[in-house]
Amino acid sequence: MDIKEIIALAGLLRNISRVAVLTGAGISAESGVPTFRGKDGLWNQFRAEDLATPEAFERDPALVWQWYNWRRGLIAKVEPNPAHKVLAQWERTFPSFVLITQNVDGLHKKAGSTNILELHGNIWKVRCTKESTVEENYLFPLPEIPPRCPACKALLRPHVIWFGESLDSAILNKAFVFSTSCEVMFAIGTSAFIQPAASFPIAAAEAGAKIVEINPDPTPLTYYADFSFREKAGEILPLIDDYLNKK
Ligand code: NAD
Repeated sequence: MDIKEIIALAGLLRNISRVAVLTGAGISAESGVPTFRGKDGLWNQFRAEDLATPEAFERDPALVWQWYNWRRGLIAKVEPNPAHKVLAQWERTFPSFVLITQNVDGLHKKAGSTNILELHGNIWKVRCTKESTVEENYLFPLPEIPPRCPACKALLRPHVIWFGESLDSAILNKAFVFSTSCEVMFAIGTSAFIQPAASFPIAAAEAGAKIVEINPDPTPLTYYADFSFREKAGEILPLIDDYLNKK
């Protein structure tokens, strides 16, 4: 761990007001939520096309829901870690702070963040396949698989973005605006393989922001990073925050 780098970053953060953060599955790894890639990643155990595509849902909604029910069970048991908590606190530290996440686990909200752009949806929300209404749903285990809309009895689906689906354009636009107008952008716990999320820090760098990457492994974003911390998010973010608060 390079303390000089942490001190330099804390000095920079003390003098700026607009921060954007992109998080990925790695920020929740220390809470016990499996990532998708990496040695314990979910895609080493399951095939994406069997479970996280609209075609898979059409073919076998019960199978897809069993998988989501299992993932909801994993996530229901875990708590936000120090990395989530520092980011929640930074909403009050910086005059402009936005959190853009690829995660669907809801742990940022549980940690206290309120200004969150959920690019890929939320595993605790369900959407009616007929009326497109979206509701929060924290039931675990689900009493009925596949669950049905209480109003119209059509199938409910997880309110998450599956492979081959488009992202919500209003959320995307906001994420782009915040990325290209911030002074510092963090990329935390993302392998930076999924687009368009991976392009936000690049757009930020091109617009003149300093880029901070936190990831034990290098990624395609490392090339753009002004600060690269090869550490676990839950260990390095509290340290950065400590130095930021030292006068
Ligand atoms: P990813 O699984 O592709 O990559 C995770 C990254 O996190 C890797 O680069 C890994 O080196 C890094 N990492 C692992 N432990 C870390 C730690 N303690 N601190 C910092 N970094 C750490 O994840 P992704 O880039 O978010 O993309 C995958 C997709 O997976 C996203 O669309 C997301 O919606 C979905 N996903 C979400 C969750 C979740 O909600 N928690 C979990 C799995 C997958």
